[in-house]
Amino acid sequence: MEIEFVRQVNISEALAEQVNQTAKKEDIGLTCHGQYYINLNSLEEEKIAASKERILKAARIASLCGARSMTFHAAFYQSQDPEEVYQKVKSGIQEVTKKLKDEGHKIWIRPETTGKPTQWGDLKEIVRLSEEVEQVLPAIDFSHLHSRSGGKNNTLEEFRKMLSLVENKLGRTALNHMHIHISGIEYTNKGERWHLNLQESDLNYKDLIKAWKEFKIKGIVISESPNIEEDAILMKKEWDSQKDVHSQTQDKAAILP
Ligand SMILES: [Zn+2]
Repeated sequence: MEIEFVRQVNISEALAEQVNQTAKKEDIGLTCHGQYYINLNSLEEEKIAASKERILKAARIASLCGARSMTFHAAFYQSQDPEEVYQKVKSGIQEVTKKLKDEGHKIWIRPETTGKPTQWGDLKEIVRLSEEVEQVLPAIDFSHLHSRSGGKNNTLEEFRKMLSLVENKLGRTALNHMHIHISGIEYTNKGERWHLNLQESDLNYKDLIKAWKEFKIKGIVISESPNIEEDAILMKKEWDSQKDVHSQTQDKAAILP
């Protein structure tokens, strides 16, 4: 389950401890979504400072709740050179992760792949950041990658490419601890418009799940459809109904001398 701090961090430190104990007791893995009001590439210095404070605040409480990762939309390009924007985002996130580390908060900081081409954060940028900054991994919103490309990133072959990139650059660790968002999505050539239920959208979630099986991913998938729980169950059923590539290859390895 994802703790939604999208408008504000509405859990106190004391309550966070209770959330942590309850999640452990019920065996529920937690992630967190940070505030929408974050832009590490704002033209105003004080807004960058406020953005870093927001990420820290959400990450600290999420960590006390026992969440293993916190995601957020990191920045807008504001028509600037993508490399310059990258460096700005990187420096902001480096500062945040250093503080969290010093304070002993073991939580992954995960910029999310965003849904519009005006928003910073395609898969390559976020994978690169994860290579260069400790305690950072991608939060992959596959619906966003589909919408920001105006309809691409929706075939088995494309899903394989994305997961290969993650595996080649970040290794098994990243595939073993995935933080994924999925929903149906409505889009134009300017990217995301709004979320839809999976079956009312063109998102090829069956092949996406097939690719997940092939790459033997583990971790947490969060449904962001308007009918949250129904699509979570739909995906779980699809996952359970598809052949487990994992166990087949394991079996092969097991009979080798
Ligand atoms: Zn998001």
